[in-house]
Amino acid sequence: MPTRAFCDCCDEPARQLFDITRIPELAEVVRQFGYRSVCQACYDNLFEELEREKEDVDA
Ligand SMILES: [Zn+2]
Repeated sequence: MPTRAFCDCCDEPARQLFDITRIPELAEVVRQFGYRSVCQACYDNLFEELEREKEDVDA
């Protein structure tokens, strides 16, 4: 029986999870929220938010 993997962010079972603990840009997210593996959608969201924050800082 295959192990069901759940996204740490949305708690939905995902076929593919991304290990964000190895991504330097998301180290802050890992530390703050305790996320370790997230699904594709949450992964994209996290990166989008990073981009937005960067824009805010520059403005
Ligand atoms: Zn998710």
